[in-house]
Amino acid sequence: MAKNKKKKIGLTTVILLSLVAGALVGACMHYFVPAGYVRDTVIVGGIFYVFGQGFIRLMQMLVVPLVFCSLVCGSSAIGDTKTLGKVGVKTIVFYLFTTAIAISVALSLATLTNPGRGLDIDNITKGEATVAESTSLADTLLNIIPKNPIQGLAEGNMLQIILFAMIVGIILAKLGEKADIVAGFFAQFNDVMMEMTSIVMKVAPIGVFSLIAKTFCEIGFDAFIPMLKYMGTVFGGLFVQCCVVYMLLLLLFTRLNPLKFLKKFFPVMVFAFSTATSNATIPLSIETLTDKIGVSKKISSFTIPLGATINMDGTAIMQGVAVVFAAQAYGIALSPADYLTVIATATLASIGTAGVPGVGLITLSMVFASVGLPVEAIALIMGIDRILDMTRTAVNITGDAVCTTIVAHQDGSLDRDIFNSDTPVSE
Ligand code: ASP
Repeated sequence: MAKNKKKKIGLTTVILLSLVAGALVGACMHYFVPAGYVRDTVIVGGIFYVFGQGFIRLMQMLVVPLVFCSLVCGSSAIGDTKTLGKVGVKTIVFYLFTTAIAISVALSLATLTNPGRGLDIDNITKGEATVAESTSLADTLLNIIPKNPIQGLAEGNMLQIILFAMIVGIILAKLGEKADIVAGFFAQFNDVMMEMTSIVMKVAPIGVFSLIAKTFCEIGFDAFIPMLKYMGTVFGGLFVQCCVVYMLLLLLFTRLNPLKFLKKFFPVMVFAFSTATSNATIPLSIETLTDKIGVSKKISSFTIPLGATINMDGTAIMQGVAVVFAAQAYGIALSPADYLTVIATATLASIGTAGVPGVGLITLSMVFASVGLPVEAIALIMGIDRILDMTRTAVNITGDAVCTTIVAHQDGSLDRDIFNSDTPVSE
């Protein structure tokens, strides 16, 4: 037992060390190793790329089967549609509420720091802005119903997968013994996927190191200089949301120790930071919430995939700051009504958008358009977005986990003994 405990703590520490080592190695390579075939093609584009992407792909491989099976099991364990509906409504309300707080934090901070005032636009490295195709709210809602569930699974359409899996789960609960072979199959396959998640995590240190080293070697640090105010404001907003808003909500609703929560959830945050994709984090997040925080899988299997798709508080913070930044950079005055429009559009823009790298910049075009800001302004922040994307992804998934823990607590599905113990249940 003691040996196992040591091993688990070891993995978390090793992941953290690989993050720091990756950042140092990458930054040193950026400055001290001359650009050329060996650095760019063999090491960064070859070794780091293969190990980094290989790791992300291994995690992505788990997402669809794991979400589907655990959600079928989760909803059949809850059984009745009334309880499911209650959990669902509470979760969605919580997600919308935290997103609205996030943008308000961002807008308030940005009006204090004035990130875009006095900016020399010509001095900034510009990327190429991609514009989001806007879908009407009616179509966004209709798209949740899969025309073909197999296609939904194949495309990894999270909302379609959630809906179909929940219906299967509810029917399994209704049929009881008549369908126990099918129910047993999903339960066992779910165990297989959880085991696979643990195995894949063993190679996380190599994956994290490679991803971070590659990013830091490629990143243009010089591009940060004119953008420091903007970046500092986004980091400040993310910090307030993660360490103040979430922790207060957690304390208020559950009375759990916020520091302990952060410590236990930290490896998931590191993983989200290095991959910049909430979606690929789903399996690890569910595993950590179950084994270390004590949240019943019947809740997390539903709320975590849902949150990865509809709840992006970190992204909303970047969007709030970006609005003020662009308005100031282009000398456009925004009215209080515009700010309200931004809060509403940024909250809605994230719904139905998968948590993948850089998607926040694409939905930002909708937010800009809603208050008449020029979409070209997005090009100004593209060059430095990767590092912000990584950080906001860590906040996005922490928001999902905090809401999940609160909802589980209110549903009576939180095991405080697991939370208070230092040994994960799977050990
Ligand atoms: N990369 C973020 C995520 O996966 C989304 C974004 O802000 O671009 O949560």
